[in-house]
Amino acid sequence: MLTKVIEQSNIDHFAKWFERADTIVIVSHVSPDGDAVGSSLGLWHFLSSQGKNAYVIVPNVFPDFLKWMPGSKDILLYDRCKAFADRLIDKADVICCLDFNALIRIENMGDSVKASPARKILIDHHLYPEDFCHIVISHPEISSTSELIFRLICRMGYSSDISKEAAECIYTGMMTDTGSFSYNSNRPEIYFIIGELLSKGIDKDEIYRKVYSTYSESRLRLMGYVLTRMKVYGEYHSALLALTLEEQRRFNYMKGDSEGFVNIPLSIKNICFSCFLREDIEKGKIKISLRSVGDFPCNKVAAEYFNGGGHQNASGGEFYGTMEEAAARFEEALKAFEPQLKAKRLNVKG
Ligand code: 5GP
Ligand code: MN
Repeated sequence: MLTKVIEQSNIDHFAKWFERADTIVIVSHVSPDGDAVGSSLGLWHFLSSQGKNAYVIVPNVFPDFLKWMPGSKDILLYDRCKAFADRLIDKADVICCLDFNALIRIENMGDSVKASPARKILIDHHLYPEDFCHIVISHPEISSTSELIFRLICRMGYSSDISKEAAECIYTGMMTDTGSFSYNSNRPEIYFIIGELLSKGIDKDEIYRKVYSTYSESRLRLMGYVLTRMKVYGEYHSALLALTLEEQRRFNYMKGDSEGFVNIPLSIKNICFSCFLREDIEKGKIKISLRSVGDFPCNKVAAEYFNGGGHQNASGGEFYGTMEEAAARFEEALKAFEPQLKAKRLNVKG
């Protein structure tokens, strides 16, 4: 048995909407990751199985390594079909906002979602949710939104209606948001849920291969290149990776090719804070990814230095300027956070 993480009043409230709703739109964040796509499709499979007209809309394209997911071909990309998506958002009975905590995270789509008369529910695990939904199911202590979707469906009394396809999507979100259960994944109930998903017929080993072992040759070569240029700040237990637009072109960069690069320096002994800077192809800005292990709050660095946010151990932001300026900004942050970075307790890896 699972503990009751989601408040009963929220379950009851959503169940009422669910009974009456005909059209339900699910939206998730820009540059959708495994949890954004997994939680959205997990819920979409469930809603569709209950006879609802359900749609998933995300701001822009998601990486190829998620395109095997059942239902992924039906996901609407807002930047490709804005007019149609706007109509759906406007006419929806219910809008489910998954895996993000602020309207800015869905970019242009935010205005339409805000203006829609639909009932809105937030289901998310990021800190500090903004106030834009009537029902707020926000649980930063839970490692993925996909897990929350599983919990929500079960609490509504529909666990036996979770299909194998829904289970595959939910598992993918749980797996990707925990680095294949290598961080944020010590809560025993995660493994109870995995047991339930396995009993739906999912092949978790195959899912792992589909997500992590279908990369292109150019991604591996790019990874090798980026690592040779890695800067290690040993005294700060930190490391920096960077990728310019010119380098992306040289390596035939495709969206998703640098996914996970930011985690690699954390496999060095005593490196507990990692930063990856990537010049953004669409908007002429630098996208920042930050990761930490232990209790160093990389989301504080994201918020104070890169206009961003996120979780304690995984956060991000953006920077407008040159790569050199972004690197200098990171080094400023290292100096400002020197006491925490040098603290003994950071050396969790021994
Ligand atoms: P990633 O490095 O995978 O792009 O992002 C990791 C996490 O950092 C995301 O799940 C999200 O919580 C947070 N994040 C990334 N980029 C931004 C940003 O620009 N603004 C905010 N507030 N959070 C971000
Ligand atoms: Mn997530």
